[in-house]
Amino acid sequence: MINILEKVDLSLYTTFKIGGPAKYLVEVNDILDLFQIIDWNKKKKEKVLVIGGGSNMLISDDGFSGLVIVNNIKGIEETIGSNDNEVIITAKAGEDWDNFVKYTVEKGYWGLENLSYIPGTVGASPIQNIGAYGVEMKDSCVLVKAINIDTREEKTFSNKDCLFSYRSSIFKKELAGKYIITEVSFRLLKKSKARIEYGALKEKINKDIDIIKPRDVYKAVKEIRQEKLPEPEKFGNAGSFFKNPEVNKEKFEQLEEKFDDLKSYDLGNGMHKIPAGWMIEKAGWKGKNLGSAGVWKNQALILVNNGGASFSEVLELMNNIIEDVDKMFGIKLNPEVNIFK
Ligand code: FAD
Ligand code: NAP
Repeated sequence: MINILEKVDLSLYTTFKIGGPAKYLVEVNDILDLFQIIDWNKKKKEKVLVIGGGSNMLISDDGFSGLVIVNNIKGIEETIGSNDNEVIITAKAGEDWDNFVKYTVEKGYWGLENLSYIPGTVGASPIQNIGAYGVEMKDSCVLVKAINIDTREEKTFSNKDCLFSYRSSIFKKELAGKYIITEVSFRLLKKSKARIEYGALKEKINKDIDIIKPRDVYKAVKEIRQEKLPEPEKFGNAGSFFKNPEVNKEKFEQLEEKFDDLKSYDLGNGMHKIPAGWMIEKAGWKGKNLGSAGVWKNQALILVNNGGASFSEVLELMNNIIEDVDKMFGIKLNPEVNIFK
């Protein structure tokens, strides 16, 4: 049975702790709830915003003048298709992502261990193809099930259909706002080797690669993240605010000439990734505040709400950073966070 609430404070539903009222808000706990609210909205025709854990969004102080659906549909099951080498696991969209990853590593399955301690829900994981420490969810995602918000039709998307790319997918582009994801299936391996090429991770684990278990990687990633990232409960934030830009060879060589200490990663396809956090730090913004919004002291890619920050303060900070980085490097940063004005 659904309970449609009115004028709900959305700052309570986002890890940035920013956002004005939603005209309507409903929490769905199973698929029947979801169909019920879609039917209700057939007559109302309110615009719809889906929220999982609210950990990748920045919502205006004016709020959202439509219907917010909070996806709370939970469950994890091992599905047919498993064999001696691999297992197919399906999680419902409202399942807590880290809880799901913990479940898989406890079973000894390989695939998601580098993605530990990422806030949010399973259902949002395909939206920006979540990634960390050299692994993306697309590497093991096999199917995404979703329901069309207007027509009520269910559709199954294969990995290929999702058009996954760096921090993006079809759900963040062509199909943005059109579907509500209900479950995601992953193919995980029973035997594999740890992927620990990121410096901090290698250092933290410091074990012979052949004896590392998925749970060792899970634990190491969690510890690194707890040391480096702001806890949203204390400092509201939505993780990396910007994407890491990729530049071509010509631009890369110009930057190399200009900056002796240039940080970059060769992507092997003629492109080079320049860490946005490094550029923001070089532009002098690391640890700086603008009103109640600020740049995190341990990782300049994360913008934080130091307490009571407004939507416009964060946008002003964002625009200042974009301008200064552009002046210094000739690179325009793009936000990774979903901004709802
Ligand atoms: P929300 O913020 O609720 O939603 C994000 C977007 O997805 C919105 O557009 C929303 O409308 C849409 N959406 C949500 N659920 C559904 C659904 N069921 N169906 C359709 N659309 C939906 N991200 C990374 O990639 N890697 C990281 O390492 C990482 N680290 C982070 C660390 C911190 C401290 C924080 C705060 C964030 C971090 N993030 C990271 C960002 C964030 O955790 C992920 O993007 C996560 O997948 C968002 O999940 P969510 O449920 O909170 O999504
Ligand atoms: P970091 O290790 O300090 O590295 C800074 C940047 O350099 C990262 O963004 C990463 O790019 C890149 N990098 C580092 N080592 C690399 C390698 N061996 N090969 C290719 N690229 C490399 O980063 P961090 O801030 O502590 O984050 C660690 C990981 O968690 C990163 O993968 C990061 O994306 C992820 N993370 C994501 C969010 C988010 O909200 N999206 C928030 C926190 C952490 P990539 O980002 O492309 O990996």
